[in-house]
Amino acid sequence: MKNPQIGNSEKKQIDKAIKRLMSDMKGVEPPLNLAAVRSQLDLDLEYYSSKDSSLMKEIVHSIKVAGKVILGSETMLGKVIDKLGLRGMLFWDQNRILIDNQLHQARFRWAEGHEVGHTFCSWHKYYLLGDSKNELSPSCHATIEAEANYAAGQLLFMQDRFVAELMSLPISIASLKLLHKRFGNSNASTLWRMVEQYAGPHPLLGIVSEHPHRLSDDFDFCEPCRYVIESPRFRETFSNISEVQLFEILTTICNRRTRGPLGTEEVELIDNHGVRHEFVFESFCFPYNQPDGTKGFQVLTLALHKRQLSRVIVTS
Ligand SMILES: [Zn+2]
Repeated sequence: MKNPQIGNSEKKQIDKAIKRLMSDMKGVEPPLNLAAVRSQLDLDLEYYSSKDSSLMKEIVHSIKVAGKVILGSETMLGKVIDKLGLRGMLFWDQNRILIDNQLHQARFRWAEGHEVGHTFCSWHKYYLLGDSKNELSPSCHATIEAEANYAAGQLLFMQDRFVAELMSLPISIASLKLLHKRFGNSNASTLWRMVEQYAGPHPLLGIVSEHPHRLSDDFDFCEPCRYVIESPRFRETFSNISEVQLFEILTTICNRRTRGPLGTEEVELIDNHGVRHEFVFESFCFPYNQPDGTKGFQVLTLALHKRQLSRVIVTS
């Protein structure tokens, strides 16, 4: 899946709202304290379990009180949550955020940032929780989620603060780890921000994937990468490159280790105009515990453009 684009005017509104929040909070330093953000915005946070029937009853009640009677019972709500893959919810009128307590610890912070992110998008108010699938088309839903994710990124990485620190470092996995510690966000979300915020002259690409030599049983060969994050320059010049091709490259360059560096290699990519370019791909494996107790292997890859090579000449 490639990173979705959001509109410039929406971006501007989100940026402005977060800038105002940061200046209201005065002198905030990374890592951003989300509890302080919630207190500034007057938002409550609770964790829910879709197995907790009393809380489910209460949520159903809240939705009814909010005037949106779309869910008949707590069982129904549980089903809707499962089906939509909801990890968090925002009750706008009650200033209340609910986060799924089954979520992996490393993802709590992003989930919370995402729900807070919705509140910076005043136009989301009419779409959130309570909106049935019929009212909200999948593409509209994807846009709203992309906007909330953008807001979460701007918030958790503190806007220009992250860009300034990123641009003072070389583009590498070592810098990613440093920025991960400094801003207190997950490695994957740090990779995402690095690529999207990179202000240098070179096309840059980030990939979040499984370990190419330790694929899970349900691995999807048609959509092999969890996320492909393209910098604006990369998107412009290399839109011809598919995620299947990128994953093939990872299979070639990565070693079989289950932790740490998997390899740094020079790779040739051909752009939309048939010009050859040299990139440096660097992959790193972060093992983690899956909910079922087995080990999972998340691989993060950074690919930075190094130089342009000659044009490809095809002869028959
Ligand atoms: Zn959302």
